[in-house]
Amino acid sequence: MQEGTFKFQCIHCNNKLRASAEFIGARIQCPHCKKPLSIPDPNKVVAVKKPMIDMSTITTSTKIAGPGLKLAGVRR
Ligand SMILES: [Zn+2]
Repeated sequence: MQEGTFKFQCIHCNNKLRASAEFIGARIQCPHCKKPLSIPDPNKVVAVKKPMIDMSTITTSTKIAGPGLKLAGVRR
């Protein structure tokens, strides 16, 4: 493997491209279809998005239900 480079697919023409890690998030022009695209982060797209959605859904629902019920019981 070459150090600091990774492969990704063009979102327009699905051709395989290669970029340096330092260009993650940068806007480039696809050499195949000449359309603009942002270079995706291969690690963040796969690993971060799904857990963050699950966590926020669980924590917000439990935080609202837990303290709210306790306060109502103590004060009355
Ligand atoms: Zn393309």
